[in-house]
Amino acid sequence: MDYYCSAKFKELQVHVQSRLLYNCCKAYPERVDLDWLEANPGRLFHTDTMLQDRELMLDNKSCASCHHGCYKLEEQGLPSARRQYINDTKIPDPQAPLTTLQISLSTDCNLTCMYCSPEWSSSWHRDIEKNGEYLLNGTPVKQKNNWSTLWAMMTQKSRGVDSRFFKLLLREIKLATGLQNVTLLGGEPLLNNQLDQVLEMVHGKKITIITGLGISHGRLRKVLDMTKGLDVNFSISAETTGTLFELIRHGVTWGDFQQRVGMIEDNGNEIKFISTMSNLSVLGFPDFYDLYSSRHKIAINGLQEIPWMMPHVLDPRSKNEFIDRIQDKHNLPEFNNILHMINKTPEDKDRTNMGDYLKQFSSRRSINFDFLPAHFLKWCGL
Ligand code: SF4
Ligand code: SF4
Repeated sequence: MDYYCSAKFKELQVHVQSRLLYNCCKAYPERVDLDWLEANPGRLFHTDTMLQDRELMLDNKSCASCHHGCYKLEEQGLPSARRQYINDTKIPDPQAPLTTLQISLSTDCNLTCMYCSPEWSSSWHRDIEKNGEYLLNGTPVKQKNNWSTLWAMMTQKSRGVDSRFFKLLLREIKLATGLQNVTLLGGEPLLNNQLDQVLEMVHGKKITIITGLGISHGRLRKVLDMTKGLDVNFSISAETTGTLFELIRHGVTWGDFQQRVGMIEDNGNEIKFISTMSNLSVLGFPDFYDLYSSRHKIAINGLQEIPWMMPHVLDPRSKNEFIDRIQDKHNLPEFNNILHMINKTPEDKDRTNMGDYLKQFSSRRSINFDFLPAHFLKWCGL
């Protein structure tokens, strides 16, 4: 196996609230040492661990931080994130400059999307705190053990985004002269009160805001006004319509979502949708595609960490109905990709776990899932 991956040499994801550095977003994180960073300006992307990992890759050796995100999946014959970098020019320098930075300012988010977790959304965190872990087959689901432990160790004060790390991060951005692309992600970045400071610091770069649009119309208006004169585009997370959308993206109504997309369109910003393909998304994606594909790009995002919600965890009738319904779209890359994803036999434990999960997720939010196909619900044991 060739262990090299160019993402290691150009990309960094920073979680300000938890002070975690991911090189890249799929890699196992390290927690930043603020004293060290303060004394070593310009080295946010060149910590000792990152430099060692890059040396290992250049020697064609496995580095531990990429094991979970890519190597392990590939060993199992599964697709991995690094496939998208396979044709990149090799970067031979461990000290190569950072070109692509993703920043999660905080996990504040009003939504609890079904395949999200407390690592990313404060609403998810509150759900677990209030109601306990989800139980699948009687066993608690441990969502991101490393993160949960770190979170528990942090005091409320140190979770604030007006922290020492935030100030150091602004300094590091200023020093990163090779930086070209900056992505703001959440939680919900549009909720964040420090957004204006970051936007000011990244003026002149290509800026992408990843959002679930779980904010008020007024707040969105304010942010759109803030982005005037900047090169800002929006990546909006969504994949289905109507009631199914409101289940999967719980916390925002379908009507409000459509209006907010309209506000961004009217403001003239480029929009791309990121559609995360789960088993439930497969049921409603064709409607979403028909509604928006003529106006905007739609990128399919694979789901990796929730085995019971993987696209192939569907009953045979749902799969056949999907295949029949998209007869005229089989050759489109998006649908070809989904056909590939569903073409795998689900394990029995994932089938029953899906039923367990759907039941608990819905009852904690007092929502009804009766609108889902009866054959799918029966297959899941509901
Ligand atoms: S191998 Fe995977 S986890 Fe590691 S840097 Fe590349 S894409 Fe990221
Ligand atoms: S909008 Fe994003 S952060 Fe919030 S719950 Fe959904 S996926 Fe998670």
